[in-house]
Amino acid sequence: MCGIVGYIGPKQAAPLILEALEKLEYRGYDSSGIAIADGNKLGVVKAKGRLSVLEEMTDCGRALPGCLGIGHTRWATHGEPNDVNAHPHLSQHGEVALVHNGIVENYIELRDFLTEQGYSFMSETDTEIAANLVEHLYRSNREDGPEAAIREALSLISGAFALGIIFADHPDTLYAVRKDSPLIVGVGKGENFIASDVPAILKHTRQVIRLDEYDMAVLTAGSVKIYNRYGEELHKNIEHIQWDADAAEKGGYPHFMLKEIMEQPDVIRSTVRPRVRDGRIDLGLSHISPDDIMACDRIFIVACGSASYVGQVAKHYIERYTRIPVTVELASEFRYSNPIVTDRTIAIVISQSGETIDTLFALREAKSRGAHVLSIVNVVGSTIANESEDVIYTWAGPEIAVATTKAYSAQLSVCYLLALYMGHCRHMVSDSELKDFLNAIEELPGLMRSLLEKSDYIKYLASLHFSCRNIYFIGRNIDHALALEGSLKLKEISYIFSEAYPAGELKHGTISLIEPGSLVVALCTYSPLTEKMISNMREVKARGAVVLALATEGTPGVEETADQVMWIPKTDPFVLPSLAILPLQLFAYYVALLKGCDIDKPRNLAKSVTVE
Ligand code: GLU
Repeated sequence: MCGIVGYIGPKQAAPLILEALEKLEYRGYDSSGIAIADGNKLGVVKAKGRLSVLEEMTDCGRALPGCLGIGHTRWATHGEPNDVNAHPHLSQHGEVALVHNGIVENYIELRDFLTEQGYSFMSETDTEIAANLVEHLYRSNREDGPEAAIREALSLISGAFALGIIFADHPDTLYAVRKDSPLIVGVGKGENFIASDVPAILKHTRQVIRLDEYDMAVLTAGSVKIYNRYGEELHKNIEHIQWDADAAEKGGYPHFMLKEIMEQPDVIRSTVRPRVRDGRIDLGLSHISPDDIMACDRIFIVACGSASYVGQVAKHYIERYTRIPVTVELASEFRYSNPIVTDRTIAIVISQSGETIDTLFALREAKSRGAHVLSIVNVVGSTIANESEDVIYTWAGPEIAVATTKAYSAQLSVCYLLALYMGHCRHMVSDSELKDFLNAIEELPGLMRSLLEKSDYIKYLASLHFSCRNIYFIGRNIDHALALEGSLKLKEISYIFSEAYPAGELKHGTISLIEPGSLVVALCTYSPLTEKMISNMREVKARGAVVLALATEGTPGVEETADQVMWIPKTDPFVLPSLAILPLQLFAYYVALLKGCDIDKPRNLAKSVTVE
């Protein structure tokens, strides 16, 4: 969701910024722009559409000389995606250019104030107001310099923001601040950077500083200074990024999504292995103790989208092995639901990016009400990770495709470990049971790999169904939780209308939508309820539906009832969800491929959702 890049150094800024913005394309955007300081003038070029439009307009940046600049890919919140609303926004007197990720929530109040000061506005964005506010404060008190103006603007703006700012009369300095929205500083040799995420700058430096709430970075080619909101200088840790830029490239696959689907066996292995030793689980929790787990009265799992569907699976596991009641809440609802939380409550928050703003706010809500907060996050040092009492990182590596696959699977594997660990702490999972479950998890990557090798059959099934207009997913218990993810995956990337339903609930309403030729994907991996599922499959078939079943090899009755079957190998039922999700991901992928969709960047979606 929106990408920010900024550069100061000896090189030409524009070509470098455009290249870096490409690395942030995964975040989703609808327009882009760049501002370069050339002498004491700020030149701005911006355009609706893909970055290639901007590249064409600027001869890949070569038409914009200058060694200081900021660039932006916008994901519109205020005002339609068009050239005028695109960032950077230049202030009225041309003294300040600014890029913004987030939302200025009090923009109407600030606009009225600035209008009284003689400002008028060209765009519909909240961001232009921030640019003019900074300029107004700077012009009112120029002697105190840009930093004071930015600091004062921060105290007046409410909402979420990461800002990159340049001033016409300071062509050697790049300014950046953040609150709620992500921003990092890249520390180079004789050059420095800002960016929304690490891949943007990895080609130039591996030395990164993660800005905390209200931190302000003041960068010149040769210096990096970070201040807190009171103007006090901070001495921040520089993190050395270990992973390779290649990890963020496609590695021979046609799409990131397919690459990431295929990486899942390795991801599970690297997420689980370091946490299992001698038949024991060590999650590295340093704050939430076994006593807290013993005393826990309630668990909330709070997340958005696919992460919340991981939560739906986790609920079954945690309740089964701990007997603690678990509520899965969408983060955007939790925050405003006046949740019943005590100091014995544990809130488990799940987010791939660790920057999902709804989840971050839900975390703060849970924390303020006294809950213990444990997060499951993929990005090390992200805001959610920083603000949680304990973090369990999923070692999935950078996930680029907007539709999650490997992060989902990694989160799921962490939830297996968490359920077992908590169950063991509460003496409900014995040592020998734990050992058996851990053995099953150990074998999982191999089974996943053999299933993924049979992807051609899923491609064939996709070729039978890619022209469907609507597809229903049904399942019971854990299969329903998986159906939610299967359906979401499909609709996200193929734009086919899809709904997931608990199979027993269908007849209470939605079955009226089933007509001859409707496709129903029926999940039958949860063995205690297969017979019920067979009946539900028959019900929809009786109304003309075509049934594509997903079942464990050898499940009686499935072959006779379904029109086609996606088989998964027989194994310990404990790890079945990790296998069952694979054909569903592949089915969504191949359907979208056959429909010619933009798989890695589906319309309207963003990878990291940093606005409410
Ligand atoms: N609220 C700003 C806008 O609509 C920034 C959106 C973004 O984060 O890209 O322009």
